[in-house]
Amino acid sequence: MATTVVSAPFSARVNRIEISATIAMTAEAAKLRAKGADLADLGMGEPHFNTPRHIKDAGIAAIEQNFTKYTAVGGIPELRKAIVKRHAQDFGSDYKPEEAVASTGGKQALFNAIQVLVDHGDEVIIPVPYWVSFKDIVEYAGGKCVYVEADEAQDFRLTADMIQRAITPRTRAIILNTPCNPSGAVMHPDDLRDVITMASRRGIYVISDECYVYLNYTGDVQSAASIAEAREHLVIIGSLSKTYAMTGWRSGYALGPAPVVAALNKLQSQSTSNPCSIVQKAAIAALEGPQDCIAEFRTDYIRLRDFVLERLAQIPGVHCARPEGAFYVYPNVSAYFGRGGVRSSADVADRLLHEAHVVTVPGEGFGTSEHIRLSYATSREVLGKALDRIQQFFAAL
Ligand code: GLU
Repeated sequence: MATTVVSAPFSARVNRIEISATIAMTAEAAKLRAKGADLADLGMGEPHFNTPRHIKDAGIAAIEQNFTKYTAVGGIPELRKAIVKRHAQDFGSDYKPEEAVASTGGKQALFNAIQVLVDHGDEVIIPVPYWVSFKDIVEYAGGKCVYVEADEAQDFRLTADMIQRAITPRTRAIILNTPCNPSGAVMHPDDLRDVITMASRRGIYVISDECYVYLNYTGDVQSAASIAEAREHLVIIGSLSKTYAMTGWRSGYALGPAPVVAALNKLQSQSTSNPCSIVQKAAIAALEGPQDCIAEFRTDYIRLRDFVLERLAQIPGVHCARPEGAFYVYPNVSAYFGRGGVRSSADVADRLLHEAHVVTVPGEGFGTSEHIRLSYATSREVLGKALDRIQQFFAAL
């Protein structure tokens, strides 16, 4: 008997991906909040600070001056100039404005870079734990993710050797993210240099997601682009979201060799076109204006990190790698598996949300099965409340 083949209603490439774990958790939390739940939210990672005044004013002025029309796809020349100038000043890079493309958030720059560089069957090395979207964006492009496990006992710090062992003739790209979301691990500058030079020698691209580059607590703030000799195979993904507390504005960029940037522009011209014109003016003010907010935010995050680590240490069985940047902690909660019906970190996050009213993100979305992610980019008060609830939750299991 002939079997009826029912074709999937959507494209194979969209069927390959799942909704972002961070966004799924935020949506779930929003449902509870709408029903009146008082949630302590450590879910979505975003600064609790407001966008600095001078940046907001530049956005308002752009509207008042009717700077509300289409612009060049990759951003107005003044913005691209401001991006490369700020990067040169802070990291010693020497990109030209035509090697920069402004995008609708760092996520769009990352998405486009992967679509531009990765073809069907290409291998992309992704260190684990990884930010939730790396895997799905690579799979959307038809690429094959090759995972490299960072060692939890070494606070998830990635070394060049770990990456080197995963390279094959099919390796097309390596995604680095230092400081790392979710672990907060920072690569040692020597390891970063070794990965980039080794990849460059082999013609492998390094896509360096530097959304947290300024939230590095080691005092050794470094961009992959500080390593001058490897520029030809390097794409930097930058974001203003965390640096200037601008998550909702959606402002990011990519820096890379001119041919890569031309391809990014081509792809962007067929999707979103230019990033919002108003946001572009605000971004210029952010990049060219006073930079004091960066150090202020960082000081606050270090205090919050210390507080959260101290509180987590008081929960029996929970152990946590020490983050050296970003604003997340990634505690291992596997000691509680098998207790009170909990079997996985997804169960822990789900029950924390529904029973303790604390929003976290389960480790499964970041490629590990024993952890949950907490964002400590929030007030000390919310953090304290969340940790009280988490402690009670585990005590009752
Ligand atoms: N930095 C945010 C997080 O990881 C981004 C959320 C997202 O775009 O998925 O929570």
